[in-house]
Amino acid sequence: MTTLGTASAGPGEIDTGRLEVGETRDGTTVGLPCAVIEGASSGKTLYIQAASDGDELNGVGVVSRVVPRLDPADLSGTVLVVGIVNYHAFQIAEHRNPIDDTKMNRAYPGDDSGTSSERIAAATFDAATRADLILDLHQGSTSRMIDEVRVRCGRRHRLHDDCLELAKTFGCGYVLDQKGPEGQLARTGPDEGIPTIDPELGGCVGWDQDSIEAGVTGVFNVLRGYGFLPGSTGQEPQTRAKGFDQYGSPAGGLVRFEADLGDRVSAGDLLFEVTTPFGERKARVTANNNGVFWRTRRLPQVATGEYVCSVGTNVDAY
Ligand SMILES: [Zn+2]
Repeated sequence: MTTLGTASAGPGEIDTGRLEVGETRDGTTVGLPCAVIEGASSGKTLYIQAASDGDELNGVGVVSRVVPRLDPADLSGTVLVVGIVNYHAFQIAEHRNPIDDTKMNRAYPGDDSGTSSERIAAATFDAATRADLILDLHQGSTSRMIDEVRVRCGRRHRLHDDCLELAKTFGCGYVLDQKGPEGQLARTGPDEGIPTIDPELGGCVGWDQDSIEAGVTGVFNVLRGYGFLPGSTGQEPQTRAKGFDQYGSPAGGLVRFEADLGDRVSAGDLLFEVTTPFGERKARVTANNNGVFWRTRRLPQVATGEYVCSVGTNVDAY
């Protein structure tokens, strides 16, 4: 019998329930939706979570499509899922937990007697660290971004190769291999000896079907690649960036992008122009380095200094 919160499944069974983490302001129990899929055969454990950032809904789209397609009879091992991590932020479609104005993915490994976010982080970290592999489904918030997978443990970490391998198996095509800030699950998971990746499934308001489909494919690639399901995954070479150049606007106005997401850019290439409302050019911004056009703001209007776009740099393939 495998239990997560109120969900409990024996071999060949699936169950859903709630992982309880304190109460809301009116005293209602906070219960994160969770699922246990216990394979008919024994094997490894995979932990998947979504909506650690409350406005990042593509991961919830992935979970809602993957779980119904998992037949415990075909599965070897166990899949543990927390479908919505950032409970309070999800209710209002905000990025950060409004109870403590904290970004959940800076709160790991959490504290079970701490703030709201720390308690949720502790409860989900407890579940995650029961697994052999961790997938923390994110996206580039509501900006526009390519589908990519982040390896956040840092290139000198003892689990770096394992995390890179997991990212390659997930197989979005792009990998950001850069040590993340403290408090990220994709940094703290490897410290516990568990290969962890942070798939970043595009960026949108609401759901993006293409990015969700990339995430569903990635989860099934991992399930096949690590022996949870029969069949193998033909790994493809991944385009890897090891850093970002971020570009702000030198002037206030309207942004027109020259490059498209996923384009290769060379140093000196035009990335975007800023114009007045009447189309008069105010600024042209070119790439400082070679790279891949990775992420952009969603809205065209910018103030001086405001974020416009990112280029993934130091690019290779593996
Ligand atoms: Zn996120």
